[in-house]
Amino acid sequence: MSEITINTIEDACRALVQGNKCYVNAQKKGNISQIIKSQIPEEGQKPYAVVVTCSDSRVPAEYIFSAGIGELFVIRTAGHVIGDFELGSIEYGVKYLGAKVVCVLGHNHCGAVKAAMGNHGKGYVQKILNEIIPVITGEKDVEKCEKLNIENSVSRIMESDMIKNLTAEGYVKIISGKYDIETGIVEFY
Ligand SMILES: [Zn+2]
Repeated sequence: MSEITINTIEDACRALVQGNKCYVNAQKKGNISQIIKSQIPEEGQKPYAVVVTCSDSRVPAEYIFSAGIGELFVIRTAGHVIGDFELGSIEYGVKYLGAKVVCVLGHNHCGAVKAAMGNHGKGYVQKILNEIIPVITGEKDVEKCEKLNIENSVSRIMESDMIKNLTAEGYVKIISGKYDIETGIVEFY
C-alpha cells in the first residue's frame, strides 16, 4: 500500500503527480516487498487510481507513478482503446475497489495512433484502428492525433452511466495525461 494516506480525490491526484516526479528523478520505486505480498491477500486491494493506458512496452504504468503492489488498477490495450470489457474493468476499479481517480494516460510515439493515421491494420488490429480513425480523421499532426485519442478514451469512459453518476457525485474524478517516453514526464491535462 501507499506510504502516504490517500482518502480524497486530491490525495490520489497528488500521489500520481508526486509518483511521476520520483520516477523522473529515479528516486523511489513502488513497494514490491515480500512483506506487502504477504499482507495483501488478507487486506484485499484498495487501489487509489485506475490507470488506462497503452500496452506499449515503453509505458510501464506502475513504474511511471512509482507505485507498488495494490496501488493502481491498470487497464492496458494498444492505443488505450476502450470497449465493453475495459469499461467494465474501470467500473469495477471505481465502484467496488474505491479508486478515487481514473487517469487516461496516452503517450508520444504511439504505434496504434500512427497505424490509425496510415490506416494499415490486419486482423483484429484493424478493430483497434477502427476505434481511433474516426476521432483523428482530417488531422495530420501526430501529436494532435495522440491528444484526440486520449480525449476520445475519456469520452468513452463517460459513456458508462455508473462512472458518470459517480463523477457527478464527486466520488471519482476522470483525469488524463500524456507520457513522454524519452523524458519519463507525464504532462497532465
Ligand atoms: Zn501506444
